Amino acid sequence: MAGSPTLTPAIVVGVVRYGETSRIVRLATRELGLQSAIAKGVARPRSRFVGLQLLSEGTAHLLQGRGELATLTAFDPLDLHTPLASRLIAFRAASALAAVAGRAIPPAHHPEVHDALRHGIRLIEAAPEPAAEIAGLAALWRFVAALGHAPVLDRCVRDGRPVDAAGGAAFAIEEGGVLCATCASGGGATRLAHEDLQALAFLLAGDAPPPDLDARYARAHRRLLGRWLTRHVTDGPLPAVEGWVRGDDSPLGVG
Ligand SMILES: [Zn+2]
Repeated sequence: MAGSPTLTPAIVVGVVRYGETSRIVRLATRELGLQSAIAKGVARPRSRFVGLQLLSEGTAHLLQGRGELATLTAFDPLDLHTPLASRLIAFRAASALAAVAGRAIPPAHHPEVHDALRHGIRLIEAAPEPAAEIAGLAALWRFVAALGHAPVLDRCVRDGRPVDAAGGAAFAIEEGGVLCATCASGGGATRLAHEDLQALAFLLAGDAPPPDLDARYARAHRRLLGRWLTRHVTDGPLPAVEGWVRGDDSPLGVG
Protein backbone atom coordinates (compact mmCIF):
# COMPACT_ATOMS: atom_id res chain seq x y z
CA MET A 1 0.00 0.00 0.00
CA ALA A 2 1.22 3.50 -0.80
CA GLY A 3 1.31 5.94 2.10
CA SER A 4 -1.12 8.82 2.32
CA PRO A 5 -0.15 12.11 0.72
CA THR A 6 1.20 15.09 2.64
CA LEU A 7 -0.94 18.19 2.24
CA THR A 8 0.93 21.48 2.19
CA PRO A 9 0.48 25.06 0.98
CA ALA A 10 2.51 25.34 -2.23
CA ILE A 11 3.41 27.76 -5.01
CA VAL A 12 4.28 26.53 -8.51
CA VAL A 13 7.74 27.89 -9.36
CA GLY A 14 8.44 25.76 -12.42
CA VAL A 15 6.59 23.57 -14.90
CA VAL A 16 8.10 21.33 -17.59
CA ARG A 17 6.38 18.95 -19.98
CA TYR A 18 6.80 15.25 -19.33
CA GLY A 19 5.53 13.02 -22.08
CA GLU A 20 2.29 13.88 -23.88
CA THR A 21 0.05 14.70 -20.97
CA SER A 22 2.11 14.91 -17.78
CA ARG A 23 4.14 17.68 -16.22
CA ILE A 24 6.95 17.85 -13.74
CA VAL A 25 6.33 20.77 -11.40
CA ARG A 26 8.65 22.47 -8.98
CA LEU A 27 6.78 23.48 -5.88
CA ALA A 28 7.81 25.88 -3.15
CA THR A 29 5.96 24.20 -0.31
CA ARG A 30 5.47 25.48 3.20
CA GLU A 31 5.97 22.15 4.95
CA LEU A 32 8.60 20.42 2.80
CA GLY A 33 10.51 23.28 1.17
CA LEU A 34 11.31 22.89 -2.51
CA GLN A 35 9.85 19.73 -4.04
CA SER A 36 9.79 18.33 -7.56
CA ALA A 37 6.75 16.26 -8.37
CA ILE A 38 5.18 14.54 -11.33
CA ALA A 39 1.61 15.50 -12.12
CA LYS A 40 0.18 12.77 -14.32
CA GLY A 41 -2.45 13.47 -16.94
CA VAL A 42 -2.50 17.25 -16.47
CA ALA A 43 -3.08 17.88 -20.17
CA ARG A 44 -5.79 15.23 -20.58
CA PRO A 45 -9.38 16.34 -21.13
CA ARG A 46 -11.25 16.33 -17.83
CA SER A 47 -7.97 16.33 -15.92
CA ARG A 48 -8.53 16.78 -12.21
CA PHE A 49 -5.72 19.33 -12.11
CA VAL A 50 -6.89 22.93 -12.39
CA GLY A 51 -4.57 25.89 -12.56
CA LEU A 52 -1.30 24.05 -12.35
CA GLN A 53 0.70 26.88 -13.92
CA LEU A 54 3.62 29.11 -13.00
CA LEU A 55 2.92 31.17 -9.83
CA SER A 56 -0.27 29.28 -8.92
CA GLU A 57 -0.83 29.04 -5.21
CA GLY A 58 -2.78 26.25 -3.59
CA THR A 59 -2.65 23.10 -1.51
CA ALA A 60 -0.48 20.36 -2.92
CA HIS A 61 -1.12 16.70 -2.14
CA LEU A 62 2.31 15.10 -2.35
CA LEU A 63 3.07 11.43 -2.25
CA GLN A 64 6.74 10.93 -1.46
CA GLY A 65 8.51 8.34 -3.57
CA ARG A 66 11.78 6.63 -2.93
CA GLY A 67 13.69 9.03 -5.15
CA GLU A 68 13.71 12.80 -5.34
CA LEU A 69 10.57 12.99 -7.43
CA ALA A 70 7.30 13.00 -5.53
CA THR A 71 3.89 12.43 -7.10
CA LEU A 72 1.39 15.24 -7.06
CA THR A 73 -1.92 13.47 -6.56
CA ALA A 74 -4.04 16.65 -6.35
CA PHE A 75 -3.71 20.43 -6.29
CA ASP A 76 -6.45 22.54 -4.69
CA PRO A 77 -6.06 26.01 -6.23
CA LEU A 78 -6.31 28.97 -3.89
CA ASP A 79 -5.05 31.88 -6.00
CA LEU A 80 -3.85 31.39 -9.57
CA HIS A 81 -2.51 34.97 -9.84
CA THR A 82 -3.85 34.98 -13.39
CA PRO A 83 -3.95 38.82 -13.72
CA LEU A 84 -0.16 38.87 -13.37
CA ALA A 85 0.31 37.12 -16.71
CA SER A 86 -1.10 40.05 -18.66
CA ARG A 87 1.10 42.67 -17.00
CA LEU A 88 4.55 42.86 -18.51
CA ILE A 89 6.63 44.50 -15.77
CA ALA A 90 4.88 42.64 -12.98
CA PHE A 91 5.03 39.27 -14.71
CA ARG A 92 8.75 39.60 -15.48
CA ALA A 93 9.47 40.35 -11.83
CA ALA A 94 7.25 37.54 -10.55
CA SER A 95 8.83 35.09 -13.01
CA ALA A 96 12.30 36.09 -11.82
CA LEU A 97 11.16 35.59 -8.22
CA ALA A 98 9.79 32.13 -9.06
CA ALA A 99 13.04 31.18 -10.82
CA VAL A 100 15.10 32.23 -7.80
CA ALA A 101 12.77 30.25 -5.53
CA GLY A 102 13.09 27.19 -7.78
CA ARG A 103 16.85 27.32 -7.45
CA ALA A 104 17.49 28.55 -3.93
CA ILE A 105 14.83 27.22 -1.56
CA PRO A 106 16.16 24.27 0.44
CA PRO A 107 14.16 21.01 0.43
CA ALA A 108 13.28 21.33 4.10
CA HIS A 109 10.73 22.92 6.42
CA HIS A 110 11.31 26.69 6.22
CA PRO A 111 7.87 28.27 6.46
CA GLU A 112 9.32 31.80 6.61
CA VAL A 113 10.87 31.34 3.16
CA HIS A 114 7.59 30.13 1.68
CA ASP A 115 5.78 33.05 3.32
CA ALA A 116 8.30 35.56 1.94
CA LEU A 117 7.73 34.16 -1.55
CA ARG A 118 3.95 34.36 -1.14
CA HIS A 119 4.17 37.94 0.17
CA GLY A 120 6.51 38.87 -2.67
CA ILE A 121 4.10 37.66 -5.36
CA ARG A 122 1.26 39.55 -3.65
CA LEU A 123 3.34 42.70 -3.35
CA ILE A 124 4.05 42.62 -7.09
CA GLU A 125 0.44 41.79 -7.97
CA ALA A 126 -0.98 44.54 -5.76
CA ALA A 127 1.24 47.29 -7.18
CA PRO A 128 -0.26 49.40 -9.96
CA GLU A 129 1.85 49.04 -13.10
CA PRO A 130 4.06 52.14 -12.63
CA ALA A 131 4.96 50.91 -9.12
CA ALA A 132 5.44 47.29 -10.18
CA GLU A 133 9.10 48.04 -10.85
CA ILE A 134 9.81 48.98 -7.24
CA ALA A 135 7.53 46.22 -5.96
CA GLY A 136 9.50 43.68 -8.00
CA LEU A 137 12.83 44.91 -6.64
CA ALA A 138 11.47 44.90 -3.09
CA ALA A 139 9.92 41.43 -3.47
CA LEU A 140 13.18 39.97 -4.76
CA TRP A 141 15.44 41.68 -2.20
CA ARG A 142 13.14 40.67 0.68
CA PHE A 143 13.06 37.11 -0.58
CA VAL A 144 16.87 37.18 -0.72
CA ALA A 145 16.86 38.40 2.90
CA ALA A 146 14.46 35.61 3.93
CA LEU A 147 16.89 33.12 2.41
CA GLY A 148 19.61 34.60 4.64
CA HIS A 149 21.57 36.33 1.86
CA ALA A 150 20.95 40.02 2.55
CA PRO A 151 23.92 42.35 2.01
CA VAL A 152 25.64 43.97 5.00
CA LEU A 153 24.96 47.72 4.82
CA ASP A 154 25.68 49.07 8.31
CA ARG A 155 29.33 48.11 8.77
CA CYS A 156 32.33 47.09 6.74
CA VAL A 157 31.81 43.55 5.50
CA ARG A 158 35.57 42.92 5.66
CA ASP A 159 36.55 44.19 9.10
CA GLY A 160 33.31 45.22 10.82
CA ARG A 161 34.26 48.89 11.15
CA PRO A 162 31.39 51.40 11.09
CA VAL A 163 30.67 52.86 7.66
CA ASP A 164 29.56 56.46 7.35
CA ALA A 165 27.32 56.26 4.29
CA ALA A 166 26.43 59.97 4.17
CA GLY A 167 28.70 60.42 1.19
CA GLY A 168 27.93 57.04 -0.33
CA ALA A 169 29.96 53.88 0.11
CA ALA A 170 31.82 51.19 -1.80
CA PHE A 171 29.70 48.08 -2.26
CA ALA A 172 31.65 44.86 -2.74
CA ILE A 173 29.29 42.36 -4.34
CA GLU A 174 31.74 39.49 -4.10
CA GLU A 175 32.28 40.03 -0.39
CA GLY A 176 28.65 40.69 0.45
CA GLY A 177 28.26 44.31 1.48
CA VAL A 178 29.71 47.78 1.99
CA LEU A 179 33.35 48.56 2.73
CA CYS A 180 34.85 51.17 5.07
CA ALA A 181 37.03 53.90 3.52
CA THR A 182 40.24 52.05 4.35
CA CYS A 183 39.15 48.79 2.72
CA ALA A 184 37.56 50.64 -0.21
CA SER A 185 40.86 52.36 -1.04
CA GLY A 186 42.01 49.07 -2.58
CA GLY A 187 39.42 49.54 -5.34
CA GLY A 188 37.37 46.89 -7.09
CA ALA A 189 34.02 47.68 -5.46
CA THR A 190 30.96 49.37 -6.96
CA ARG A 191 30.42 52.92 -5.72
CA LEU A 192 26.90 53.49 -4.39
CA ALA A 193 25.60 57.00 -3.69
CA HIS A 194 23.84 57.75 -0.42
CA GLU A 195 20.44 57.62 -2.19
CA ASP A 196 21.30 54.21 -3.67
CA LEU A 197 22.09 52.83 -0.22
CA GLN A 198 18.88 54.32 1.16
CA ALA A 199 16.94 52.77 -1.70
CA LEU A 200 18.58 49.42 -1.03
CA ALA A 201 17.69 49.62 2.67
CA PHE A 202 14.09 50.34 1.73
CA LEU A 203 13.95 47.51 -0.79
CA LEU A 204 15.31 45.08 1.80
CA ALA A 205 13.18 46.07 4.74
CA GLY A 206 10.78 48.86 3.86
CA ASP A 207 11.49 51.04 6.88
CA ALA A 208 12.31 54.14 4.84
CA PRO A 209 10.30 56.25 2.39
CA PRO A 210 10.04 54.46 -0.97
CA PRO A 211 12.68 55.68 -3.38
CA ASP A 212 11.75 57.48 -6.56
CA LEU A 213 13.15 55.24 -9.27
CA ASP A 214 13.20 56.52 -12.81
CA ALA A 215 13.71 53.99 -15.58
CA ARG A 216 17.48 54.33 -15.85
CA TYR A 217 17.90 54.17 -12.10
CA ALA A 218 15.61 51.16 -11.82
CA ARG A 219 17.67 49.35 -14.44
CA ALA A 220 20.82 49.99 -12.42
CA HIS A 221 19.12 48.51 -9.36
CA ARG A 222 17.96 45.47 -11.35
CA ARG A 223 21.51 44.97 -12.63
CA LEU A 224 22.93 45.18 -9.09
CA LEU A 225 20.38 42.68 -7.78
CA GLY A 226 21.00 40.41 -10.77
CA ARG A 227 24.72 40.32 -9.99
CA TRP A 228 23.98 39.72 -6.31
CA LEU A 229 21.67 36.80 -7.12
CA THR A 230 24.19 35.20 -9.44
CA ARG A 231 26.97 35.48 -6.89
CA HIS A 232 25.21 34.73 -3.59
CA VAL A 233 21.87 33.05 -4.20
CA THR A 234 21.40 31.10 -7.43
CA ASP A 235 24.93 29.85 -8.01
CA GLY A 236 25.00 31.14 -11.57
CA PRO A 237 22.71 33.02 -13.95
CA LEU A 238 19.05 32.13 -14.54
CA PRO A 239 17.29 33.04 -17.82
CA ALA A 240 14.21 34.46 -16.07
CA VAL A 241 16.40 36.71 -13.94
CA GLU A 242 18.47 37.84 -16.91
CA GLY A 243 15.26 38.68 -18.81
CA TRP A 244 14.02 40.72 -15.87
CA VAL A 245 17.35 42.56 -15.53
CA ARG A 246 17.32 43.49 -19.25
CA GLY A 247 13.70 44.49 -18.78
CA ASP A 248 12.47 47.77 -20.07
CA ASP A 249 14.80 48.20 -23.05
CA SER A 250 12.04 47.09 -25.36
CA PRO A 251 8.32 47.78 -24.96
CA LEU A 252 7.64 44.27 -26.26
CA GLY A 253 9.99 42.67 -23.81
CA VAL A 254 12.14 41.11 -26.50
CA GLY A 255 15.09 43.50 -26.23
ZN1 LIG B 1 36.89 47.82 6.25
